[in-house]
Amino acid sequence: MYRTHTCGELRTKHIEQEVKLSGWVQTIRDKGFMIWIDLRDRYGVTQLIFSEDQSSSALMEAARGLGREFVIQVEGRVIERSSKNDKIPTGDIEIVVKQLHVLNRSETPPFTIESDTDGGDELRMKYRYLDIRRKPVQQNLIFRSRLAIESRKYLSDQGFIEVETPFLIKSTPEGARDFVVPSRMNPNEFYALPQSPQTFKQLLMVSGLDKYFQIVKCFRDEDLRADRQPEFTQIDCEMSFVHQDDILDTFEGLTKHVFRELLGVELEDFPRMAYDDALRLYGSDKPDLRFGMQFYELNDLAKGRGFGVFDQAELVVGLCVKGAAAKYSNKDLKKLTEWVQRPQIGAKGLVHVRWTEEGIKSSVAKFFDESQLTAWYEAMGGTVGDMLLLLSGEREKTQKQLGALRLEMGEKEQLIRDGDFKPLWVVDFPLLEWDEDLERFHAMHHPFTSPKKSDISRMLRGDHDTMKQLKADAYDLVINGAEIGGGSIRIHDRALQEKNFKLLGFSDAEAEEQFGFLMGAFEYGAPPHGGIAFGFDRLCAVMNGQSSIRDFIAFPKNNMGRDIMIDAPAPIDGAQLQELYLDVIEKKSDTTDI
Ligand code: ASP
Repeated sequence: MYRTHTCGELRTKHIEQEVKLSGWVQTIRDKGFMIWIDLRDRYGVTQLIFSEDQSSSALMEAARGLGREFVIQVEGRVIERSSKNDKIPTGDIEIVVKQLHVLNRSETPPFTIESDTDGGDELRMKYRYLDIRRKPVQQNLIFRSRLAIESRKYLSDQGFIEVETPFLIKSTPEGARDFVVPSRMNPNEFYALPQSPQTFKQLLMVSGLDKYFQIVKCFRDEDLRADRQPEFTQIDCEMSFVHQDDILDTFEGLTKHVFRELLGVELEDFPRMAYDDALRLYGSDKPDLRFGMQFYELNDLAKGRGFGVFDQAELVVGLCVKGAAAKYSNKDLKKLTEWVQRPQIGAKGLVHVRWTEEGIKSSVAKFFDESQLTAWYEAMGGTVGDMLLLLSGEREKTQKQLGALRLEMGEKEQLIRDGDFKPLWVVDFPLLEWDEDLERFHAMHHPFTSPKKSDISRMLRGDHDTMKQLKADAYDLVINGAEIGGGSIRIHDRALQEKNFKLLGFSDAEAEEQFGFLMGAFEYGAPPHGGIAFGFDRLCAVMNGQSSIRDFIAFPKNNMGRDIMIDAPAPIDGAQLQELYLDVIEKKSDTTDI
């Protein structure tokens, strides 16, 4: 037996018991006549003690030979500690060691294996197996496991069936590039890894499974940001004979369930906000509702007063920062102006108004007198002490710029409370998005999304401008400004699906070649259906108040899509390339080298 107890288990009630523990040496404190060792495993840390008056000199010597991260087994007696440590659950006891076995030695680890480590990101990723020994990382992985189990429990109780769908498939367009896998048995042909199981789950509805789910890996080859990974996990679902409300209710139920079970948090019913309203009021299709600072349009009050910038703008819009008028100096506002002018935000300038006991100060005082500026305050629900920030320009761009400024101000003003969760459904997304540069439509969600019933005839018969106005039965779950998931009611009719592909620029032949199997299935009694997928990694992060999903993935990739521990991706040898009919690629790169 390696152990009678774990390193997190022993308490005062175990005093005088003979025990065996196994684990890793975390720290060694050698005072000459006494040696203390903290022994760690997944369950906690227990203090071991070796002392000259109780241990043989051979045992003391052996303890001195240990190093950090050695794996040891000890046998000894539990005693009460003379100086207790109330920071750890085992802090009342320690073990007087009688026998010590070294199970394995360890090199000195490249960083300290403690909650606060001295290891940088790269180093920790290179030695991820050591990083995972650290408590915060282990806790994240344990949380993830519990979240998966609770999600499965809930969905299974609701009658969902978990079905695995294949990883080696043909491309499903979800807006990213595919990762592809060459087929040895089918020369010069490639599988694509699924960006999601979208088409398969729809086929399962045609099969009559009625309620499907899967906790599943998805693969998207896109430029990485802090919260993106080339492979990530979804809680993916599909349901038949449902309307949008049925899906939202079911997944609101799932969300409430996991918050209750894992965090002890009771979420209130989720508000539903139309996409257009989300942009109009918060400048984002994923508004963070942990604080207010809604937008107010000021076209009526600000245009036509001789200030050219406003007069030429499609939209003048602002927000009111409560109690901020006296807090921001001219220098602060100059910095804020530069912040909105950064290319990432792209605003031309920032108009500010500060109303203090001393009067109203504004960057546009030349054009607007005090009564006009007070009228702005009135319209925006502001008063003495508050500061107004205004942007102007083309409608959608300006809304998004102010959306970014709103988040910045929310942070600056510390309006976000730790442990606060504000979920909402964003609904009524546009069906299509017009790409000015490429002069073509993209599917706002994906090509299988149905227009609203009331828009179907307009879609089948309308002109180009009508297409821009079509709304879809598509929805997103947003929590604290992060998109947790999205889905839609699907098209289940061949003619409508064909029309959608056409609008998206597929020729008939291309649509048939890529999605003939799905449209064919629609001809065999496809039920009305719809679904949703939650980003599982992101849900983990948001529930823990963190912004990066990487910390919740056991072996994540870095910003270049590399796994620096196993050093992937990596070249493969010539024979392997040849077998896959890819040796042409090798030859080509050889010539480039020359
Ligand atoms: N497949 C979609 C996605 O990955 C989700 C859905 O429409 O159900 O975003």
